Amino acid sequence: LARLYGPITTLSNVHVEIMTALVSFDRVFEVLDLEPRIKESPNALPLPKGPLSVEFDQVSFRYPGAAESSVASLELTPHTEAAEETQVLSEVSFRAEPGRMVALVGPSGAGKTTLTHLVSRLYDPNEGEVRLGGLDLKEVTGESLRASVGVVTQDTQLFHDTVGANLRYARPEATEAEMEEALRMARLGPLLEQLPNGLDTMVGDRGYRLSGGEKQRLAIARLLLKAPSVVVLDEATAHLDSGSEAAVQEALAVALQGRTSLVIAHRLATVREADQILVLEDGRILERGTHDELLSAGGLYTALYRTQFASQDR
Ligand code: ADP
Ligand code: MG
Repeated sequence: LARLYGPITTLSNVHVEIMTALVSFDRVFEVLDLEPRIKESPNALPLPKGPLSVEFDQVSFRYPGAAESSVASLELTPHTEAAEETQVLSEVSFRAEPGRMVALVGPSGAGKTTLTHLVSRLYDPNEGEVRLGGLDLKEVTGESLRASVGVVTQDTQLFHDTVGANLRYARPEATEAEMEEALRMARLGPLLEQLPNGLDTMVGDRGYRLSGGEKQRLAIARLLLKAPSVVVLDEATAHLDSGSEAAVQEALAVALQGRTSLVIAHRLATVREADQILVLEDGRILERGTHDELLSAGGLYTALYRTQFASQDR
């Protein structure tokens, strides 16, 4: 049985990974919309424009297929144990006020990335509700959700195309002036001056090669053009050279200004700045508060701080 189920599980994981990689490209999503992963409700409403709150209300989640993939082990282990093993989020509740930043911290595998996947509705919770601006995501249109939520992850995917084309994925109707403005706000003004053909310069292996920091700032310029109400950010762990790092941080500060943000935080500066920090372990929120509140509580956050963040303290 295990031999039979193995390949099926592997295939479905590949599918999930592909979907995840595509989350920031709206055009691609329009194509995928022909066969929606999650059905839109017939009475779906558009999300309101402007700042939105993000709320999780008693959210529990298991990856689809996770129960089936443990069928082979069911013969040996009781059913309840198998269900518990595959539970990724358990009774998660919090509220990010409009325009505020919530930081997610916790050990690897705690469920931080999964939690952010529920905000862009890559999946629906098994129990509880995820709400934006007070509306259950199951009741909002896919189009307004994709316009309202912007995702920036660590590995920015660029298309082998011009700078302008890469920016237009965020907003097809953007004018050249708007694209140039977004590049300047994302601290890419100096790069723009250098590009041999300006916005028409090809980027990528066979074109103008961008550094890691420049790619990240191009992703931020895309975000600025898209101007979503909610930003999901998986902060980079890999270190850029310090000049580039500072420019990326400045660009992010601009991009997060006035937007509700959910940040998977790896930097001390970010958790210090967050309005609320959620400390996750095994899919549960164990602690919550500001950096100072959590440090004085002396719990898991303090332990994480010592191993992960203290070295960044100067
Ligand atoms: P974190 O981001 O905090 O490191 P994740 O949300 O990536 O944690 O993972 C939480 C748990 O969910 C882990 O046990 C992980 O193995 C599992 N998981 C993550 N992605 C998938 C997936 N696509 N299918 C099945 N299980 C997954
Ligand atoms: Mg993660």
